[in-house]
Amino acid sequence: MPLPIPAPYRGRFAPSPTGDLHFGSLLAAFGSWLLARHADGTWLVRVEDVDPPREVAGASQRQLQALMAFGLHSDEAIVHQSLRSDLYEAALQRLLREGHAFECHCSRSDLAASAGVHRHCVAKSRRPDPAVRLRVPDGTTITFDDGVRGTQAQDVSREVGDFVLRRAEGYWAYQLAVVVDDGAQGITDVVRGADLLDSTPRQIYLQRVLGLPTPRYAHLPLVVDAAGRKLSKSDAALPVDPRAPLPALQAAWLALGQAPSVVAGVADVPTLLAQARSGFDPSRIPGTGRVELAAAHNNAFIFAP
Ligand code: GLU
Repeated sequence: MPLPIPAPYRGRFAPSPTGDLHFGSLLAAFGSWLLARHADGTWLVRVEDVDPPREVAGASQRQLQALMAFGLHSDEAIVHQSLRSDLYEAALQRLLREGHAFECHCSRSDLAASAGVHRHCVAKSRRPDPAVRLRVPDGTTITFDDGVRGTQAQDVSREVGDFVLRRAEGYWAYQLAVVVDDGAQGITDVVRGADLLDSTPRQIYLQRVLGLPTPRYAHLPLVVDAAGRKLSKSDAALPVDPRAPLPALQAAWLALGQAPSVVAGVADVPTLLAQARSGFDPSRIPGTGRVELAAAHNNAFIFAP
């Protein structure tokens, strides 16, 4: 029997505009771009601006300008989640209609006794603006093969519980928006930071309920400093400097476990990207979940505060 023709590769980088582009986000952008280019695929940028309380004014614009300075251009028009409510609403209504989703009046304190895991409503009072949650049946264990981290499994019902699709304040939850958009944009490969590894089983479960295909997943290592702290917890969370893209791209290349000689001594961004593209070896990406970035200490590529 002939093998099915694999769908053409479509990857994406999906930043939330909660601050300027920092080294961890550059790593996700560059890593997802490299894997897409390696597969002769398409690479998209999607702005995940569905959380107004966490949004920082001007951050989206500055993130997009930084990506341009790093030579990482979306192959198609950039999509903004804030303009796609109709899609999320349609998915939510369908889930409610089919009995997969339900309105929930529980507050955080109602769920404190179960460590935030929702299995049934225990609300002490009704709220005017209930959240909407996805029902996760007992024993919902999701297993997937991560391209970087290998086989992963999670009992979503036990470890996460029924999860929020629309928040009580009316905002769309990341989990719903990301699944609807990865489906609507035909994403075949999700490449992102390891901080989202434990969201993936939820997303796969939601894809199944919505009848959407499950993309391949690859979670890039988190960057830590010499003390083992996430960069976002240290002063190295300062924005990368778009005026000096070469050292940042070189540091990201090394953090992705790639051969230093490929990008050593290059004089400009187009040359670096061309050499990176041809010299990239996905099997070198560390599967350890974290990489230490010694270079973060001299802040060579980071904005002076
Ligand atoms: N918007 C998410 C973030 O910036 C990433 C979403 C994703 O790649 O799935 O953390």
